[in-house]
Amino acid sequence: MNKENKILSILGSTGSIGTQSIEVARQLGYKISSLSTNSNISVLENQIREFKPKVACVYDDKKAKELKLKVADTNTKIVSGVDGLCEVATQQESDIVLTSVVGMIGLVPTIEAIKAKKTIALANKETLVTAGEIVTKLAKQNNVKIIPVDSEHSAIFQCLQGINKKVELKKIILTASGGPFFGKSYEQLKAVTLENALKHPNWTMGAKISIDSATLMNKGLELIEAFWLFDVLPNQIKVIIHRESIIHSMIELVDNSVIAQLSEPDMKLAIQYALTYPNRFPSDIKNLDLIKYGSLTFNKPDIETFKCLKICMSAIKKGGTLPCAINVANEEAVTLFLNKKITFVDIFSIVEEIYKSHKTIINPTLNDILQTELITREKVRKLII
Ligand code: MG
Repeated sequence: MNKENKILSILGSTGSIGTQSIEVARQLGYKISSLSTNSNISVLENQIREFKPKVACVYDDKKAKELKLKVADTNTKIVSGVDGLCEVATQQESDIVLTSVVGMIGLVPTIEAIKAKKTIALANKETLVTAGEIVTKLAKQNNVKIIPVDSEHSAIFQCLQGINKKVELKKIILTASGGPFFGKSYEQLKAVTLENALKHPNWTMGAKISIDSATLMNKGLELIEAFWLFDVLPNQIKVIIHRESIIHSMIELVDNSVIAQLSEPDMKLAIQYALTYPNRFPSDIKNLDLIKYGSLTFNKPDIETFKCLKICMSAIKKGGTLPCAINVANEEAVTLFLNKKITFVDIFSIVEEIYKSHKTIINPTLNDILQTELITREKVRKLII
């Protein structure tokens, strides 16, 4: 159906976004030259057999060795660790690197991909949250496009086509579903379980992002991501709750016209647009039937209860290493919550504690960012003991 035949690398091809990206690539008839997984070698093996990539990385060294034996009959080279991820990210023949790994681990490979002048389809928001200044500057220097895959940012990016951003854009309006606990008080949140928190009303997603949606940290991270992607001032970004997840975000222009992007909630649309940009092609995404929905609703976010969002709003104004620190605090807290070591509201407390105690370095180097990561992980572990 598509006549472009781009070649794709996928960092994190076995997760929720990764497997949907594979579906889109298959639909578009794109070739895949490299793939990676954290440890899911059975899914990766199937992908290797179908797409015959040059290189595949298993981050976990032991699992990489296991896979190597399993696919010894293929021509795919198996690598591991961060170096392996970087090899996947810089595969010579690929045009686009789609980064859909979970967490800050995506940062260094993305930087390497930019240096190798690959177009970046960015689904890993932590890359811009933790090192937005470094990554956006490097992309500019290398004349590399960073195309968002996050549904909200894809919506904003789509709305911005044909707009002179510096002159005509007034505000970005990020929509948030509000997650499974919309309208709940802090007292009620104390009692929520992991199972409740994993149940998102509109989207089917990985565990980490499902929890981030429940705490609204996801929207906070997205706010920081939008700040870097679209090069706007912090007060130009507004968050509103839109329970139905039909409007994926909006832009407000200087004449007070508002442009929105709507569709059924399906990540494959954002993935496909990032891959085929600036062109559009038919997709297998369901038609949007607005009559079926009848009405769309909007609310103000409760940032006093869901304070992660408030903390992110403030962190972006302070800048430096602070967004990285609170992101790492959240990554650690969510892992602890997923392992049932802490309660849901403890996530708020951990993020707030790091926000208050972090010593921010302004204009950080990559090394400052990576140091902040190490120090903060250690700090959270000590907090728990
Ligand atoms: Mg999103």
